[in-house]
Amino acid sequence: MKVVENLAGIRTKIEQACDRVDRSPNDITIIGVTKYVTIDRAKETFAAGITNLGENRLEGLLEKQAELEQDVHWHFIGSLQSRKVKDIIDKVDFIHSLDRQSLAKEINKRASKQTPCFVQVNISGETSKHGLTKDEVIPFIEKLASYPHIQVVGLMTMAPFTEDEALIRNTFRELRLLRDKIMANNWQHAPCSFLSMGMSNDYMIAIEEGATHIRIGSELVGPYDN
Ligand SMILES: *Cc1c(COP(=O)(O)O)cnc(C)c1O
Repeated sequence: MKVVENLAGIRTKIEQACDRVDRSPNDITIIGVTKYVTIDRAKETFAAGITNLGENRLEGLLEKQAELEQDVHWHFIGSLQSRKVKDIIDKVDFIHSLDRQSLAKEINKRASKQTPCFVQVNISGETSKHGLTKDEVIPFIEKLASYPHIQVVGLMTMAPFTEDEALIRNTFRELRLLRDKIMANNWQHAPCSFLSMGMSNDYMIAIEEGATHIRIGSELVGPYDN
């Protein structure tokens, strides 16, 4: 399948999900996750109109960046080791995986300007997942006020890997409620209006629950002949 064909199907489903909850598709940013695919497939994704691309490894990001257009917005969606921050910081537009103080400190030190970050939250509490627990998030964000190079633009989560739709929906809903609480503080360093949630198998639920950024890999860029 061509990316444009996959994208047409995704756009239809986004519209349907938006209709159900009275939202506009214009308020949803699709991040094309190209971590599984070749540089050519990433180029095809950009040509199909996806200008936001996500990678989860430094190597994959650098390799694709070297070959793609300047006007891609790059999202780093993987867990980030502090020692790699210096190699990545000036190359990404958004970091989706801010989940600890030591990482915040390193980003603040290495960045030459304010870096838009999503704070990653582990709503489901699965020990296999990265992210802060719900209770840790607000005190964590409050402390980031002392880091001038960090701007908290939103929260990010991954739903549990399950068929249980109610559980997935509840995860997304809890992230939204947490986001609302943070926004109510009107913290200058943390406008926190965005919600990065929803992947290929759950993005419609995520949209119904308020996602502003959906991270789509397999349904958009795979499967393909190569
Ligand atoms: C790989 C990945 C995605 C995309 O996953 P698909 O299920 O292929 O859509 C989204 N978010 C993160 C953090 C990922 O690592």
